Amino acid sequence: PGILYIVPTPIGNLDDMTQRAQQVLASVSAIAAEDTRHSRVLLEHYGITTPMFALHEHNEREKAAGLVARLQGGESIALISDAGTPLISDPGFPLVRACRQAGVQVTALPGPSAVITALSASGLPTDKFLFAGFLPAKQQARVTALEALADETGTMVFYESPRRIAESLSAISEVLGAAREVVVAREISKQYETYLHGSAADVLAKVQADANQQRGEIVLIVAGKQLNKSDIPAEALKLLTELTALLP
Ligand code: SAM
Repeated sequence: PGILYIVPTPIGNLDDMTQRAQQVLASVSAIAAEDTRHSRVLLEHYGITTPMFALHEHNEREKAAGLVARLQGGESIALISDAGTPLISDPGFPLVRACRQAGVQVTALPGPSAVITALSASGLPTDKFLFAGFLPAKQQARVTALEALADETGTMVFYESPRRIAESLSAISEVLGAAREVVVAREISKQYETYLHGSAADVLAKVQADANQQRGEIVLIVAGKQLNKSDIPAEALKLLTELTALLP
Protein backbone atom coordinates (compact mmCIF):
# COMPACT_ATOMS: atom_id res chain seq x y z
CA PRO A 1 0.00 0.00 0.00
CA GLY A 2 0.99 3.60 -0.51
CA ILE A 3 1.85 6.24 2.08
CA LEU A 4 0.32 9.67 2.61
CA TYR A 5 3.15 12.16 3.17
CA ILE A 6 2.40 15.50 4.82
CA VAL A 7 5.00 17.88 3.43
CA PRO A 8 5.61 21.39 4.84
CA THR A 9 6.72 24.08 2.40
CA PRO A 10 8.40 27.46 3.09
CA ILE A 11 6.48 30.29 4.81
CA GLY A 12 8.53 32.94 3.00
CA ASN A 13 12.13 31.98 2.39
CA LEU A 14 12.44 29.38 -0.38
CA ASP A 15 15.68 28.08 1.13
CA ASP A 16 13.64 26.65 4.00
CA MET A 17 12.48 23.72 1.87
CA THR A 18 14.18 20.58 3.26
CA GLN A 19 16.01 18.11 1.03
CA ARG A 20 13.70 15.40 2.22
CA ALA A 21 10.63 17.44 1.28
CA GLN A 22 12.02 17.84 -2.22
CA GLN A 23 12.87 14.12 -2.49
CA VAL A 24 9.41 13.05 -1.35
CA LEU A 25 7.60 15.47 -3.67
CA ALA A 26 9.73 14.26 -6.59
CA SER A 27 9.09 10.58 -5.89
CA VAL A 28 5.37 10.26 -5.08
CA SER A 29 2.70 9.42 -7.70
CA ALA A 30 0.82 12.67 -7.14
CA ILE A 31 0.77 15.82 -5.04
CA ALA A 32 -2.44 17.08 -3.46
CA ALA A 33 -2.08 20.88 -3.33
CA GLU A 34 -4.32 23.51 -1.77
CA ASP A 35 -3.86 25.70 -4.87
CA THR A 36 -2.15 24.05 -7.83
CA ARG A 37 -1.35 27.34 -9.60
CA HIS A 38 0.35 28.71 -6.50
CA SER A 39 2.29 25.49 -5.86
CA ARG A 40 3.31 25.11 -9.53
CA VAL A 41 5.63 28.09 -9.09
CA LEU A 42 7.18 26.54 -5.99
CA LEU A 43 7.66 23.10 -7.56
CA GLU A 44 9.19 24.64 -10.69
CA HIS A 45 11.68 26.43 -8.46
CA TYR A 46 12.91 23.04 -7.21
CA GLY A 47 12.60 21.34 -10.60
CA ILE A 48 9.83 18.99 -9.43
CA THR A 49 7.47 17.75 -12.17
CA THR A 50 5.19 15.37 -10.23
CA PRO A 51 1.51 15.67 -11.28
CA MET A 52 -0.66 17.80 -8.99
CA PHE A 53 -4.34 17.99 -8.19
CA ALA A 54 -6.33 20.41 -6.05
CA LEU A 55 -7.35 19.54 -2.50
CA HIS A 56 -8.86 22.54 -0.75
CA GLU A 57 -11.44 23.31 1.91
CA HIS A 58 -14.30 23.07 -0.60
CA ASN A 59 -13.56 19.59 -1.97
CA GLU A 60 -11.46 17.83 0.65
CA ARG A 61 -14.37 16.01 2.30
CA GLU A 62 -15.74 14.58 -0.92
CA LYS A 63 -12.25 13.63 -2.20
CA ALA A 64 -11.03 11.82 0.91
CA ALA A 65 -12.58 8.40 0.17
CA GLY A 66 -11.26 8.30 -3.41
CA LEU A 67 -7.77 9.21 -2.23
CA VAL A 68 -7.83 6.53 0.45
CA ALA A 69 -8.68 4.04 -2.34
CA ARG A 70 -5.73 5.26 -4.42
CA LEU A 71 -3.40 4.91 -1.42
CA GLN A 72 -4.74 1.42 -0.71
CA GLY A 73 -4.15 0.63 -4.37
CA GLY A 74 -0.44 1.30 -3.89
CA GLU A 75 0.05 4.94 -4.91
CA SER A 76 1.89 7.24 -2.53
CA ILE A 77 0.57 10.78 -2.32
CA ALA A 78 2.06 13.96 -0.84
CA LEU A 79 -0.09 16.67 0.68
CA ILE A 80 1.05 20.30 0.55
CA SER A 81 -0.65 23.63 1.28
CA ASP A 82 0.10 27.16 0.06
CA ALA A 83 2.67 27.68 2.82
CA GLY A 84 3.95 26.01 5.94
CA THR A 85 2.55 22.81 7.40
CA PRO A 86 -0.67 21.36 5.95
CA LEU A 87 -3.57 21.01 8.45
CA ILE A 88 -2.27 23.90 10.57
CA SER A 89 -5.02 26.41 9.68
CA ASP A 90 -4.87 24.73 6.26
CA PRO A 91 -6.66 21.86 4.45
CA GLY A 92 -5.90 18.19 5.06
CA PHE A 93 -7.69 17.12 8.21
CA PRO A 94 -10.50 15.08 6.55
CA LEU A 95 -7.93 13.19 4.45
CA VAL A 96 -5.61 12.36 7.36
CA ARG A 97 -8.60 11.33 9.47
CA ALA A 98 -9.90 9.06 6.68
CA CYS A 99 -6.44 7.51 6.22
CA ARG A 100 -6.12 6.77 9.94
CA GLN A 101 -9.58 5.22 10.01
CA ALA A 102 -8.74 3.06 6.98
CA GLY A 103 -5.37 1.99 8.34
CA VAL A 104 -3.42 3.81 5.61
CA GLN A 105 0.08 4.84 6.68
CA VAL A 106 0.47 8.58 7.25
CA THR A 107 3.83 10.20 7.80
CA ALA A 108 4.57 13.89 8.35
CA LEU A 109 7.86 15.55 7.46
CA PRO A 110 9.17 18.14 9.95
CA GLY A 111 9.37 21.61 8.47
CA PRO A 112 8.28 25.24 8.46
CA SER A 113 5.24 26.42 10.38
CA ALA A 114 4.61 30.03 11.39
CA VAL A 115 3.23 29.09 14.82
CA ILE A 116 6.34 27.30 16.09
CA THR A 117 8.77 29.69 14.42
CA ALA A 118 7.11 32.78 15.94
CA LEU A 119 6.71 31.22 19.38
CA SER A 120 10.35 30.15 19.57
CA ALA A 121 11.57 33.70 18.90
CA SER A 122 8.87 35.51 20.91
CA GLY A 123 10.58 35.67 24.28
CA LEU A 124 7.33 34.54 25.90
CA PRO A 125 7.18 31.25 27.84
CA THR A 126 7.31 28.23 25.52
CA ASP A 127 6.81 25.44 28.06
CA LYS A 128 3.05 25.47 27.67
CA PHE A 129 1.14 27.07 24.82
CA LEU A 130 -2.21 27.08 23.09
CA PHE A 131 -2.51 27.54 19.33
CA ALA A 132 -5.96 28.93 18.57
CA GLY A 133 -5.80 29.62 14.82
CA PHE A 134 -7.49 32.82 13.64
CA LEU A 135 -9.57 34.90 16.05
CA PRO A 136 -13.11 35.52 14.74
CA ALA A 137 -13.32 38.45 12.31
CA LYS A 138 -16.41 39.99 13.90
CA GLN A 139 -15.92 42.17 16.97
CA GLN A 140 -18.48 40.51 19.27
CA ALA A 141 -17.35 36.96 18.43
CA ARG A 142 -13.72 38.01 18.92
CA VAL A 143 -14.45 39.42 22.38
CA THR A 144 -16.32 36.24 23.31
CA ALA A 145 -13.41 34.08 22.11
CA LEU A 146 -10.96 36.14 24.18
CA GLU A 147 -13.20 36.01 27.25
CA ALA A 148 -13.12 32.22 27.01
CA LEU A 149 -9.31 32.45 27.18
CA ALA A 150 -9.20 34.87 30.13
CA ASP A 151 -7.93 32.24 32.59
CA GLU A 152 -5.52 30.54 30.20
CA THR A 153 -2.08 30.41 31.85
CA GLY A 154 -0.17 29.07 28.83
CA THR A 155 1.12 31.35 26.08
CA MET A 156 -1.53 31.84 23.35
CA VAL A 157 -0.67 31.90 19.66
CA PHE A 158 -3.01 33.22 16.93
CA TYR A 159 -2.78 33.73 13.21
CA GLU A 160 -4.00 37.20 12.31
CA SER A 161 -4.88 39.18 9.24
CA PRO A 162 -2.96 42.47 8.86
CA ARG A 163 -6.31 44.21 8.31
CA ARG A 164 -7.49 43.19 11.77
CA ILE A 165 -4.31 43.31 13.86
CA ALA A 166 -5.12 46.71 15.41
CA GLU A 167 -8.69 45.66 16.28
CA SER A 168 -7.46 42.41 17.80
CA LEU A 169 -4.81 44.14 19.91
CA SER A 170 -7.40 46.58 21.17
CA ALA A 171 -9.78 43.71 22.03
CA ILE A 172 -6.95 41.93 23.88
CA SER A 173 -6.19 45.13 25.75
CA GLU A 174 -9.85 45.42 26.76
CA VAL A 175 -10.55 41.80 27.65
CA LEU A 176 -7.18 40.61 29.01
CA GLY A 177 -5.85 43.96 30.19
CA ALA A 178 -3.72 46.75 28.69
CA ALA A 179 -0.67 45.43 30.56
CA ARG A 180 -0.85 41.90 29.11
CA GLU A 181 2.43 41.12 27.31
CA VAL A 182 2.09 40.47 23.58
CA VAL A 183 4.35 39.89 20.58
CA VAL A 184 3.47 40.62 16.95
CA ALA A 185 5.65 38.52 14.64
CA ARG A 186 5.42 39.79 11.07
CA GLU A 187 6.78 38.56 7.72
CA ILE A 188 8.79 35.73 9.29
CA SER A 189 11.74 34.60 7.14
CA LYS A 190 11.09 37.42 4.65
CA GLN A 191 12.80 40.74 3.92
CA TYR A 192 10.75 42.83 6.34
CA GLU A 193 10.61 40.41 9.26
CA THR A 194 9.82 42.28 12.50
CA TYR A 195 8.96 41.38 16.08
CA LEU A 196 7.08 43.94 18.17
CA HIS A 197 7.08 43.24 21.87
CA GLY A 198 5.51 44.93 24.87
CA SER A 199 2.23 45.44 26.68
CA ALA A 200 -0.95 45.13 24.60
CA ALA A 201 -1.36 48.91 24.86
CA ASP A 202 2.26 49.62 23.77
CA VAL A 203 2.18 47.25 20.82
CA LEU A 204 -1.21 48.60 19.73
CA ALA A 205 0.26 52.13 19.74
CA LYS A 206 3.26 50.96 17.65
CA VAL A 207 1.00 49.22 15.14
CA GLN A 208 -1.27 52.27 14.87
CA ALA A 209 1.70 54.60 14.41
CA ASP A 210 3.21 52.64 11.51
CA ALA A 211 1.05 51.52 8.56
CA ASN A 212 3.75 49.02 7.58
CA GLN A 213 2.90 47.07 10.72
CA GLN A 214 -0.54 46.50 9.23
CA ARG A 215 0.83 44.74 6.14
CA GLY A 216 2.06 41.26 5.39
CA GLU A 217 1.60 38.06 7.36
CA ILE A 218 1.26 38.10 11.12
CA VAL A 219 1.42 35.77 14.11
CA LEU A 220 0.06 37.26 17.31
CA ILE A 221 1.37 35.84 20.59
CA VAL A 222 -0.18 36.64 23.94
CA ALA A 223 1.30 35.82 27.33
CA GLY A 224 -0.80 33.61 29.57
CA LYS A 225 -2.46 34.86 32.72
CA GLN A 226 0.06 35.40 35.52
CA LEU A 227 -0.84 33.67 38.72
CA ASN A 228 0.02 35.95 41.64
CA LYS A 229 -0.92 36.29 45.27
CA SER A 230 -4.01 38.37 44.64
CA ASP A 231 -5.39 35.48 42.57
CA ILE A 232 -5.66 33.21 45.61
CA PRO A 233 -9.39 32.95 46.30
CA ALA A 234 -10.44 35.28 49.17
CA GLU A 235 -11.76 32.33 51.18
CA ALA A 236 -8.41 30.50 51.02
CA LEU A 237 -6.54 33.68 51.90
CA LYS A 238 -8.71 34.18 55.02
CA LEU A 239 -8.15 30.59 56.12
CA LEU A 240 -4.42 31.01 55.55
CA THR A 241 -4.36 34.12 57.77
CA GLU A 242 -6.29 32.31 60.51
CA LEU A 243 -4.00 29.30 60.37
CA THR A 244 -0.87 31.45 60.41
CA ALA A 245 -2.09 33.07 63.64
CA LEU A 246 -2.17 29.61 65.26
CA LEU A 247 1.46 28.87 64.41
CA PRO A 248 3.88 28.97 67.38
N1 SAM B 1 -0.05 26.24 7.41
C1 SAM B 1 0.61 27.48 7.71
C2 SAM B 1 1.66 27.26 8.80
O1 SAM B 1 2.00 26.12 9.09
O2 SAM B 1 2.16 28.23 9.34
C3 SAM B 1 -0.39 28.55 8.09
C4 SAM B 1 -1.47 28.78 7.08
S1 SAM B 1 -2.59 30.06 7.50
C5 SAM B 1 -3.79 29.95 6.22
C6 SAM B 1 -1.75 31.54 7.03
C7 SAM B 1 -1.41 32.40 8.24
O3 SAM B 1 -0.20 31.94 8.84
C8 SAM B 1 -1.13 33.85 7.90
O4 SAM B 1 -2.33 34.60 7.84
C9 SAM B 1 -0.29 34.28 9.08
O5 SAM B 1 -1.09 34.52 10.21
C10 SAM B 1 0.53 33.02 9.32
N2 SAM B 1 1.80 33.09 8.55
C11 SAM B 1 2.13 32.35 7.47
N3 SAM B 1 3.36 32.70 7.02
C12 SAM B 1 3.82 33.67 7.84
C13 SAM B 1 5.02 34.45 7.90
N4 SAM B 1 5.98 34.31 7.00
N5 SAM B 1 5.12 35.38 8.89
C14 SAM B 1 4.15 35.54 9.80
N6 SAM B 1 3.00 34.83 9.79
C15 SAM B 1 2.83 33.92 8.82
